[in-house]
Amino acid sequence: MNADPYAWIEKSLDTVRRADWYRSPQSIESCPGPAVKLGNRRLINFASNDYLGLAGDDRLIQAAVAATKEFGTGATGSRLLSGHRDLHRQLEQAIANLKQTEDALVFSSGYLANLGAIASIVGKRDLILSDKYNHSSLKNGAALSGATVLEYDRCPLEDLTAKLEQNRTKYRKCLIITDSVFSMDGDLCPLPQLLALAEQFNCMVLVDEAHATGVFGASGAGCAEHFGCQGLPLIQVGTLSKALGSLGGYVAGSAALIDFLRNRAATWIYTTALTPADTAAALEAVRIVQQEPERRVRLQRNIETFKYYAIIDRQLPINNSLSPIFSLPLKDAATALTAASKLKEIGIFAPAIRPPTVSVSRIRISLMATHEFAHLQQLVEALEQVLSF
Ligand SMILES: *Cc1c(COP(=O)(O)O)cnc(C)c1O
Repeated sequence: MNADPYAWIEKSLDTVRRADWYRSPQSIESCPGPAVKLGNRRLINFASNDYLGLAGDDRLIQAAVAATKEFGTGATGSRLLSGHRDLHRQLEQAIANLKQTEDALVFSSGYLANLGAIASIVGKRDLILSDKYNHSSLKNGAALSGATVLEYDRCPLEDLTAKLEQNRTKYRKCLIITDSVFSMDGDLCPLPQLLALAEQFNCMVLVDEAHATGVFGASGAGCAEHFGCQGLPLIQVGTLSKALGSLGGYVAGSAALIDFLRNRAATWIYTTALTPADTAAALEAVRIVQQEPERRVRLQRNIETFKYYAIIDRQLPINNSLSPIFSLPLKDAATALTAASKLKEIGIFAPAIRPPTVSVSRIRISLMATHEFAHLQQLVEALEQVLSF
């Protein structure tokens, strides 16, 4: 026996490289914003989830610094032991107020919020219906729960109806899970229709508002507000790390649900509480989201401007989205990588997204409220240039 039990790792990495699926992080050397420093160059940034431009906002920075000075760097324990601070509760109440729900619970990340919520509310005798394009955290939460998982096609929604008709009565509880804004294509889930089906078939609905919170709805509450579904029975999950510019995740819903999660969600009970800095920054961000709707107006204007120039004026083959997320589909992973590096050469940071994250390789573009008109013009010209190669 002289075989190396770890030899498979290099072999597996070689397979990843050969498929042009190999990835590694690149270092940003400046504060987040519409332009960032990357490898000694200033690039216009279309790679960020910081939709409202809050991650570099001085008010969030000051809130994080003040909380650190007062409460230290670490929470020192889980919320049920030594980790709980009044700041956590203030943030939860602020999120519940934004979402118009009875209560909310903050987790260490959006990923952990999904794992914890899904795995604690359904189990072996239950059924999960999951949109095919759901985020990894929803899919892994479903797997962790032990429930039977069926994936459905959003278009046409008859697929979900048929799956409910055929399967619902064989299971005890049923949970429909979906992104509200899909993270790679930027399209929206048909939330009102999902809620109507849920009512018809006695199902719960969990909607992941990661890319919608702060962005959609008059007060920034997300797609539930955009679609007029606030107040309906619904489990809302989200992140503090995108438009809210901090780190962490949350679940918002009924007081009973939140009380249940505090007692049963393993990814909340057995992990250290959010740091004072992250908590205070997110609390300040929620306040800004509610008090400065002009940021959403600016983001919406950038979305419309970009769509006008890219799709109508230049006829670039970009998906037509309501959200700040756009994609330029490309032939294969190698083409996407070449396109991303050409864009970088001409001053644009927009990453190639490849399998297994998506089935069709693409350049992903995300817009921010803080992009200037000139940034958008440069983006459209660069995309046109790259496509002509
Ligand atoms: C980013 C994202 C998450 C994960 O949130 P984190 O706070 O970054 O862990 C979950 N769901 C969706 C749809 C996301 O886009």
